[in-house]
Amino acid sequence: MKLVFLGPPGAGKGTQASRVAEKVGIFHASTGDIFRAAVKGGTDVGKTVKDYLDGGRLVPDELTCRVVEQEVLDARKDYVLDGFPRTIAQADMLEAALARRGQKLDAVIHYALDDAEATVRLTGRLVCRKCGWNFHKVNMPPKKQGVCDQCGGELYIRSDSTLEAVQKRLAEYHEKTEPLVAYYARRNLLTTIDASQPFETVLSQTLELLRPLR
Ligand code: AMP
Repeated sequence: MKLVFLGPPGAGKGTQASRVAEKVGIFHASTGDIFRAAVKGGTDVGKTVKDYLDGGRLVPDELTCRVVEQEVLDARKDYVLDGFPRTIAQADMLEAALARRGQKLDAVIHYALDDAEATVRLTGRLVCRKCGWNFHKVNMPPKKQGVCDQCGGELYIRSDSTLEAVQKRLAEYHEKTEPLVAYYARRNLLTTIDASQPFETVLSQTLELLRPLR
């Protein structure tokens, strides 16, 4: 099963993707996580992408697609792409790369959320350094301050969670990524889910949608 989860930053698609991947037994391919790991590991890719990540700007398409081809398309059979594609050019490259392998996407899920709610969520976000689980300072605080409920790892605030970076990421989403909603609708691959609903509701709607594909 090859899936794309689409939506503005803050829509919870990363958390959904990680839960869906675990439940369905497919690989969770987050380009954000791949890039952050590269920055942490001090690799060549990491050095190139660091400034983009810190500023909340998109990494250039060619580099992003090359990384996805190597780390996901060539390495895995079933996956959910989270945070990729983020531009029409990336979607075209993905389609072409899959076609070269005689493959195609099975479904695209669009997690819809308005900017006001996305901003509240993102500026209060806490992330586990160890397992990547997300919490929120106000809406979903961890049981013990600074400690992950899931694995006991240390929680931190991502460098792109400042109001300025969040506003930039949302603007960039509307300009470059939102056109993918129509792009995938035209290909009859798209379903939209209201991401302002409680997490477990969104998750069960997602799993229900994927049932015929399993
Ligand atoms: P995320 O964790 O998905 O919010 O991604 C964090 C950052 O990684 C983004 O703000 C971008 O700088 C970069 N990034 C992740 N995915 C992509 C992509 N598909 N294209 C370009 N940049 C990306």
